[in-house]
Amino acid sequence: MIREFAKNIVRLWASSGDRSVTVAKVDKSTWRCAPCLGPLVLRYEVYAWDLSVRAAYLDTTRGYFNGTSVFLKIHGKEHYPQVVEIRSPVGEAYSEWRVATALPREDAPPLGYGSYRAADYDELIDHPVEMGIFSLATFEACGYPHDIAVTGRHRADMKRLCRDLKLICEQHIRFFGEPPPMERYLFLVTAVGSGYGGLEHRASCSLLCGRDDLPRLNQQEVSEKYRTFLGLCSHEYFHVWNVKRIKPAAFASYDLAKENYTTSLWAFEGITSYYQNLQLLRCGLINAADYLELLGQAITRVWRGGGRFKQSLAESSFDAWIKFYKQDENAPNAIVNYYSKGALAALALDLLVRRGTGNTHSLDDVMRALWKRYGGGGAGVPEDGVERLAEEISGLGLQEFFDTVIRGVEDPPLAELLPQFGVKFELRPAESAADHGGRRAKETADKLARRPVLGIRLAESGAEAKLAHVYDGGAAQQAGLAAGDIIVAVDDLRVTRANLDSLLAAYDAGEVVTVHAFRRDELMKYNVVLQTPPIDTCVLALMEDIDGAVRARRVAWLGTA
Ligand SMILES: [Zn+2]
Repeated sequence: MIREFAKNIVRLWASSGDRSVTVAKVDKSTWRCAPCLGPLVLRYEVYAWDLSVRAAYLDTTRGYFNGTSVFLKIHGKEHYPQVVEIRSPVGEAYSEWRVATALPREDAPPLGYGSYRAADYDELIDHPVEMGIFSLATFEACGYPHDIAVTGRHRADMKRLCRDLKLICEQHIRFFGEPPPMERYLFLVTAVGSGYGGLEHRASCSLLCGRDDLPRLNQQEVSEKYRTFLGLCSHEYFHVWNVKRIKPAAFASYDLAKENYTTSLWAFEGITSYYQNLQLLRCGLINAADYLELLGQAITRVWRGGGRFKQSLAESSFDAWIKFYKQDENAPNAIVNYYSKGALAALALDLLVRRGTGNTHSLDDVMRALWKRYGGGGAGVPEDGVERLAEEISGLGLQEFFDTVIRGVEDPPLAELLPQFGVKFELRPAESAADHGGRRAKETADKLARRPVLGIRLAESGAEAKLAHVYDGGAAQQAGLAAGDIIVAVDDLRVTRANLDSLLAAYDAGEVVTVHAFRRDELMKYNVVLQTPPIDTCVLALMEDIDGAVRARRVAWLGTA
């Protein structure tokens, strides 16, 4: 997405010596200064109040910025070394502040203020900077220093974090081959009440998480929330190779002012999403049952989106600029997520290669070959590069798979493939709106099949039952309800966000209910024929009665007999 960071430049002025220099705006993010003699000094004010991982934030407790939000690019001098001097805010209140960044230090002491240097503008904007009071811990992965800085109030077990992140980092480093492609690495973590997000960089990543996602002292197990956090760390760290260095050709030299088109984001985000959890299993942080639960949830997420039959992964990548990153209420009906379906495509590709080569090769070999061939920079991976290399490494004809699952709108053939790897693939109806799949249902199959559904998703905040999404072909849409409608009654009983599910539970699929809803503040009435729930919730389990060949495949893939 074009983020339009220039919108936060409040004002800008230029001088040379003691003379002011005229500045003219050329386009929305470009300024031209009049010629001058001697050094040109530009001063500008940036509004920084974005708590996400991608922009800049400043208050009395901390400062955080990505170079993209604060550093202007000097036209024609992008390739020059760039020096940044970071100064302390003035005042006693800030005397304890430190600086955490992977930006190479010039004269700044470790964690201190002073000057930092980047080889060029590209590097300058690829090292986010955190300033403030944060917890810091250090560990080594394959002998290389890694820091983790946690900002925000928290009671995390920093030793535990180091121990677990070390396992993940070493797993990824050894996967691609030692040594890692950076001298040191920094995890910048911001803990908030609830939040989730990550952004990868060449030698660091910025993560946003809930403070409850972090492990507490004396917490032995990997909780579901901590597992999600570890998955996020694993994801961004895998990007050190896949996308920061193995890049699509379209990203080999970005034009930051306009869209850079590629059809292969599924490979960079999807393959990364596949490995983020598989590597947690391989390094022992989760077990096979946990892994299959996560995989079942991932399949459920994808299987619930009707848009996957309208948009291919290749199209989703290409149009990410205007669709995936600009989602509206119709997104589930119109687009496919190249992260989640991409991860399932990566899984299917891995299994196809393993099956076709009798376990001698896998997607691991394809990734290592991509790293060897394209990791050193240069022209980047051509649009058909992943497909060509997968065929070359496996010796298999994979065009049909790419034509149907990547360029077409077919589901990855997991129902067929997983049992051949000793994993039972089951689909069932959802038990409730909060059922994300991955687990056995508590209700009987018979009862689940009769559960009435409206074919909607409610907005997640507020007390009202506001429709966030209305699914194509669902009961609500058939009756004329639309996204944004606020349901106030079902058969004349008051509806809230909290009670809609339990009110509907009194009915059977096939029955007709009267729904009152507000649209544009006008009260509307609909007769809704309740539908049977879609069979879209996936549960995976290890199969017990399997033959030797199947068992051998499962051992090679999951390490589980
Ligand atoms: Zn990613």
